[in-house]
Amino acid sequence: MAIEAVNSTEVAESVRGAAGVGPRDLPVNLQRVTDHLGLKVYYNQFEDPRISGMLITDAARVPMGVAPGARGTVFLKAGEYTPRSRFTLAHEVGHFCLGHGNGGVVTDFFRGRTDGNADPKETEANEFAAELLMPRVMFTELWTSGLPLEELTVIFGVSLEAAIVRARTLNLRELAY
Ligand SMILES: [Zn+2]
Repeated sequence: MAIEAVNSTEVAESVRGAAGVGPRDLPVNLQRVTDHLGLKVYYNQFEDPRISGMLITDAARVPMGVAPGARGTVFLKAGEYTPRSRFTLAHEVGHFCLGHGNGGVVTDFFRGRTDGNADPKETEANEFAAELLMPRVMFTELWTSGLPLEELTVIFGVSLEAAIVRARTLNLRELAY
């Protein structure tokens, strides 16, 4: 029997519910989720342009002059297009909820979705983000309804790429095409 340390999808579902966001409240209001969790979110120009997001759970490591969140602080790269920013934020929330402390700071670099990343924490954070933003039941319902893909991405506030990966993960691809 395979032992699964953590089911990131279930964690995302329960966090969304605890924040008072129903699966039909779309696009998912991430601010409600981060407020509920005690996370503060800032947009930032990182010195290293490859950085897309950062989670700091040790308040002492939040840069001077920045008010830390009660339980954690997230920095997102400023100027990214909204669906990407939303996915990065959901991914950082995933690191937080899945307890990926890493000494108080988690730094994420932008990657194409090449799956060349062997770190299971990154996979878990991505699974968490996908479920948080695209609740399985609603995503399945809308994907199989024949709705144009562009409309579906607007409803969930995600990129085309994220929606396609989600459908593939849920084995929905063939129903839609
Ligand atoms: Zn990450």
